[in-house]
Amino acid sequence: MRSATAIVILLLSLSTACAQSPKASDVPALSGDKAMEHVRAQVAFGPRPPGSPALEKCRNYIIERLRDHGYTVEQDAFEANTPYGAKKMVNLIGRKGTGDRGIIALASHYDSKYMEGKQFVGANDGASSTGLLLELARVLAGASAPLDYWFLFLDGEEAFVEWSTFDSTYGSRHLARRWKQEGTAAKVRALILLDMIGDRNLDILKEYNSTRWLVDLVWEAGAKAGVSEILSPVQAAIEDDHIPFLDVGIPSVDIIDLNYGPGNSYHHTLSDTLDKVSPESMEKTGRLVLMLLSMLQERFARK
Ligand code: ZN
Repeated sequence: MRSATAIVILLLSLSTACAQSPKASDVPALSGDKAMEHVRAQVAFGPRPPGSPALEKCRNYIIERLRDHGYTVEQDAFEANTPYGAKKMVNLIGRKGTGDRGIIALASHYDSKYMEGKQFVGANDGASSTGLLLELARVLAGASAPLDYWFLFLDGEEAFVEWSTFDSTYGSRHLARRWKQEGTAAKVRALILLDMIGDRNLDILKEYNSTRWLVDLVWEAGAKAGVSEILSPVQAAIEDDHIPFLDVGIPSVDIIDLNYGPGNSYHHTLSDTLDKVSPESMEKTGRLVLMLLSMLQERFARK
């Protein structure tokens, strides 16, 4: 993803508690160590740019894990026009239920950035959010809630050459367009995108391309889940996989830390390795997301 502007604001978010809202104890247990196992597995495949044999192995790994937990997996294959010509890409959609009662989508990109001749493994950028999403899929496999959870593993988020509207977010642009045409977009009540949430020094920023009420709910969920320390007062507009979904009218939020290493020096560099990723950071993010999901279910159950 790309950061367009970053403005530090001085105001810390003040979260307000609501009497009927769920408590931290209501949500199922989630394991940062289990998420970390998925990160290790992905990194072991090596660099995973779109169309690579390593990404295909990674895709099969994700499909197997989702099926293990009883999800139906749709493979949304398409061809994308990139600066290197046509590339085959595949989004994965793990789901239970038809979505007719409404959908909450949880998303991560699973490709790693193509870097010619370099062993860029994207331990945080790609693998951490994908690992956490798989762990969330495990925890939520038995959930019976008004809205269905759909898990999106998006291909081709990264730019091949230089980030632009045409060279980035290939998978999300394809899927959002398809969902709009098919009428699925209207059923998605909220989309929660995770990106780079494994950083040892986690500071999730307030992303202001995101839907405002969802951003506010993320901060409220962080306080309720007791993990406010991972939320930063920094505000920035980030271009990421949530943009195409916002463009088709789906309320969406990007939960992202774009302050990775000193001066963001681990981002898109060979320093983005396993040792920089922390199970604790993923677990805290996961707890926040589970709380957010409870709050969303309650919010939409009332409507
Ligand atoms: Zn990236």
